Amino acid sequence: MKPAPFTCHVPKTLDEALKVLAKVAPQDGRVLAGGQSLVPIMAFRLAKPAHLVDINEVAGLDRVASDDKTLSIGARVRHAAFHKSVVDNPLGLLLTEVARHIAHYPIRMRGTFCGSLAHADPASEWCLVAATLDATMVAKSTRGERPIAAKDYFEGIMSTALAEDELLAEARLPLLPADAKFGFNEFNRRAGDFAMAASLVSYRLQAGKIIEPRVGVGGAETAPRRIAPAEAALNDQTPGEAAFRAAAEAAAMAIDPLEDHQTTGEYRRDLVRAVVRRALEQSA
Ligand SMILES: Cc1cc2nc3c(=O)[nH]c(=O)nc-3n(C[C@H](O)[C@H](O)[C@H](O)COP(=O)(O)OP(=O)(O)OC[C@H]3O[C@@H](n4cnc5c(N)ncnc54)[C@H](O)[C@@H]3O)c2cc1C
Repeated sequence: MKPAPFTCHVPKTLDEALKVLAKVAPQDGRVLAGGQSLVPIMAFRLAKPAHLVDINEVAGLDRVASDDKTLSIGARVRHAAFHKSVVDNPLGLLLTEVARHIAHYPIRMRGTFCGSLAHADPASEWCLVAATLDATMVAKSTRGERPIAAKDYFEGIMSTALAEDELLAEARLPLLPADAKFGFNEFNRRAGDFAMAASLVSYRLQAGKIIEPRVGVGGAETAPRRIAPAEAALNDQTPGEAAFRAAAEAAAMAIDPLEDHQTTGEYRRDLVRAVVRRALEQSA
């Protein structure tokens, strides 16, 4: 099917983009980034925006930049930018490991990191990264700039704290300590499909014991999040089968699993148990 008629605006500067978005947002105006989620939804007429604000020519939004604490990822940065490490820090390797699980190559060439965060599919790998690492999302509008912490940003299935006239201009990820360990695992039935459950973990070791554990789970609940009981099960433990199984069990019991035509809640809980354990095994 073809999309319903719409007017396309192609601003060249951020100021121009924010002004147009402020004007058209009340008439169901939407940002168009990579189009890899929005265009199929429009083609099926599940969305019929009257206006699109195409940000693909907005100067400056294609930047990936880092200082000694943070990696900033602009709104036009594609998934494929992370096929190679973008920063000399374990975070660069983590992003490269995760990127290859997102959809298929052609989709990764167009889809954007920030577009994924704005779309907020519960199974999105980048949303899981943002939630697990406590990213900050930088929303901009004609009213100014608003940093939003990940814990306040993800509100539910395809629902975020972004207002309709706000553009997600960049996402900021904290760099990892140089000795950070991490692991990622997801389960899907076919390569390239959305994950039915995914986990990202990271921690450091001090005198052989786990410190600063982070255990994130995505795809299993309405939004990705850190799982505190799983982190508590890892803290101050020696990495190995016993600690990893305890953390995986804690994660499985802590979630409020999504159920759909493919899965029961119990099955998803079991997937979470598996992906958390595998992510931890990978980290070691
Ligand atoms: C077959 C297929 C398989 C896929 N598999 C996966 C997968 O395994 N994992 C995964 O994570 N994704 C998957 N995707 C989705 C893909 O990653 C998209 O690229 C991503 O979800 C959205 O990014 P985009 O840049 O294409 O956004 P668009 O499609 O352009 O926009 C998506 C939504 O976000 C809004 N938006 C986009 N950018 C901004 C911004 N900067 N500020 C405010 N709002 C904004 C748009 O208005 C729209 O509502 C898949 C897509 C397809 C077609």
